Parts: sequence; structure tokens; C-alpha cells
Amino acid sequence: MIILKSLDEFLEWRAEIGEQTLGLVPTMGALHDGHLSLVEASLQKSDVTLAYIFVNPAQFAAHEDLDTYPQTLDADIEKLKTTGCDALWIPSAEDIYPGGDMSSDIEPASVAYPLEGEHRPHFFKGVVNVLSRFFDHVKPDFVFMGEKDYQQLLVVQHMVKEYEIDIEIIGVPTVRDDNGLALSSRNAYLNESEYDVAIHLNRILFVMAEKIRSGQDVKIVKADALVDLQNAGFDKIDYCAIRDAHNLQHATHGSLRILAAVIIGQTRLIDNVPV
Ligand code: AMP
Repeated sequence: MIILKSLDEFLEWRAEIGEQTLGLVPTMGALHDGHLSLVEASLQKSDVTLAYIFVNPAQFAAHEDLDTYPQTLDADIEKLKTTGCDALWIPSAEDIYPGGDMSSDIEPASVAYPLEGEHRPHFFKGVVNVLSRFFDHVKPDFVFMGEKDYQQLLVVQHMVKEYEIDIEIIGVPTVRDDNGLALSSRNAYLNESEYDVAIHLNRILFVMAEKIRSGQDVKIVKADALVDLQNAGFDKIDYCAIRDAHNLQHATHGSLRILAAVIIGQTRLIDNVPV
């Protein structure tokens, strides 16, 4: 696996790839099997696979965990090597935001407004900003993103459509641990007792999906789930919602997605399941 650092080094490598199809896997590092499944999906579909690690300051609010976000670069490189990933780019902040300029003309689509958009208003603006910059440099054919961050996946799919960017955004199913907890770099913040609470999140969401499939009223399913989440010991529930799977508007029928964000101790967890 080639490890690329500066933008110049990257652009030289990019020129050598030429017309081969290029799959991109954007990450913020602290890699786990969820990230590796994106790399594997790219290896299947693309001639060449590039992962990048960039902890994007533009998507963190001042009170969030930018300074303490887990960094495990040596382990990340070893994990990526086991997959057969062709290249890893680790740009500096200066490469992506020259002169510290984090301004952007790209506005997230309306699918960014509810749910995460209400609780982390800066977040999707920061995501589309950094991705548009990476897309300009990398010019990938495919970008592989996790369904774990389902709303983010939709926002980026809407972005390429709206701005007529000729890139296919491919969603990859969520990878979970033996207890069903969606793998996340932030799971590293959980202590043992918090972990025991955290594993209830996915169970409650899967029960909700099953109840809806069996014909139960979505309002009642949601009300019961809120009680279950409280009883499970979560400190705060940002949202637990049943939405249209394509635009995240309120819906009771058709293609639905259940999405939740909860806080336990210092850790914010998100998860979602299809109905
Ligand atoms: P992050 O490093 O958290 O920014 O995530 C980078 C990419 O990995 C995003 O597209 C995430 O949706 C994806 N990802 C994170 N966790 C998982 C998971 N458990 N399963 C599948 N993809 C994931």
C-alpha cells in the first residue's frame, strides 16, 4: 500500500492512475471493521482503491471532541494493509484548507435539516465542504460510505445530484459487533458499564422495525421505544425517529428508516435500521 502525504505527492500518484476506475473511502481514522468493509466494497468494484484519513475540523463544533478524537495511525495503516487497499492519503489541514480558509459555496440539501441537522447544525455543512474539496483533488468514480451514518449518506447522494458531480456514492451496510452495537471510532470512549447500556440501542431499534413490519401503529412503536431507551439507562435521547427512507420526512408507510441519536456519559451514539 502506498502512503501519500502532501497534496503534490498525492496529485503525482493520481496522474499515474490515469483512466483506471478509482474508488474512494473517506475516513477520519481510528479505523475498525466498518471502515474496512468500505475498502473491501471498493476493491470489488474499482480498479484502484484509495482511502484517506483526515479529521475534518469543519465538521466539529467548538464544544465537540475534535481535540480528543481518537488517533491510531500506526494501527490504521496495518489494518488497511491487510485489505489490499492500494493507497492511503493522509493530507495536512493546509492541503485541504489552504491558509486556513474553510469557507464553502456548497450548501447541503434539505435532507440535511432534520435529525442530525437540528442537533449538530454545523455538521453537514462541514461534511459537504470537505468532500467537495476531496472530490476536486481525487476525482473518484465511486465513493463508498457507511449506512451507519445514514443521513450523511443521503446528504452526499443529494449533493452529487444537485451539483451535477459525476461520482457514484455507494452505501455499505453497517458493521456491528457481537452484541449488535454499530462499530464506531467513538465507541472507544465507552467504559464497561456504558458499553452495557450502549448495546440496548440497536436492540431497541430492531424491535421497532419488527413491530412496524408486523403492522403496529408507528406512533405507539415510537412512544414505547422512547420509554425503552430511558429505561435502558441512556442519559439523553437526541432523537428516535421513524422517517421516509429517501427524504427523512415524517412518514408512516412506504419505505421507512428508523434513526436514533443518544448520549451516554460523554459519548454520543447514532444508529439506524431499515424497516
Ligand atoms: P468516520 O471515520 O467515522 O468519518 O467514518 C468514515 C466512513 O466509515 C463513513 O462513511 C461511515 O459511515 C463509515 N462507517 C463508520 N462506521 C461504520 C460501520 N460500523 N459500518 C459501516 N460503515 C461505517
